Amino acid sequence: MEFSQEEFEQYVKNNYPVLFEGDLSGVENLPGNCNFCNREVFLKLYGKRYHNPYSSAFPLFEIFHLECPSCRRKSFIHAIAIYTTIEDENEDERDIVQHYRLFNLPEKEYQNELKDIPEEYELLRNCAREAMFCMAHSKYTSATIMFRRAIQIMAANILGAPKGTLARQLNWLKSNENRLKIDLTEVFHENSHIIKEIGNQGAHPEDEISLQDFTKEEMDLLHDLFQSTISEVFIKPALLKSIQDELKQRRRIK
Ligand SMILES: [Zn+2]
Repeated sequence: MEFSQEEFEQYVKNNYPVLFEGDLSGVENLPGNCNFCNREVFLKLYGKRYHNPYSSAFPLFEIFHLECPSCRRKSFIHAIAIYTTIEDENEDERDIVQHYRLFNLPEKEYQNELKDIPEEYELLRNCAREAMFCMAHSKYTSATIMFRRAIQIMAANILGAPKGTLARQLNWLKSNENRLKIDLTEVFHENSHIIKEIGNQGAHPEDEISLQDFTKEEMDLLHDLFQSTISEVFIKPALLKSIQDELKQRRRIK
């Protein structure tokens, strides 16, 4: 990160409101405004997730999943936790954690994109969620890096390619049986290669000016390629099996 932890925390404190002060364990409701019905309510806190960026230990990002008690619809809040020493009314110093609200959004923006990735692959789901989020907010360079990361999670964590560079892992998938025993097609190999290359362009700026930025059209295409790799790994095998099962049953094939 380009600035120190102190500078970063000061920036957050100056620019974002405090959502909640103190330890959140055991807290079941957060006061807030519902994204859908616009009422001031106590939003039911039904899920919390925390993650550090992989480059450093701070900041601690938090995601709170909320449900409106009035209209029942779901949203979530992205926040940052900052530990601060304060003086209380008896002039005693104590450490507290403050949760600063960065933004909140209706849940539905994400859900469609993620329906194809099974629940058990939480790491991939988080990564895809973050990629979609970047896209939705026109952070295209960040999105390319997250799509590349998603491909690496798929290759290594899910399909079982051994540790190494992503290029090697993708090559390994071409000539070895993967953990899910999926017969990957040439299209999968091509798409994952393209996503890797575009992610590299996002991470390491090209010299050529026309390649330094990404357009919305390019992002839409990249997104479609990513969706096709997802469907190849998670949708197609299940679909194929259900067709085979049905046909076998109809034709009474053992
Ligand atoms: Zn509501």
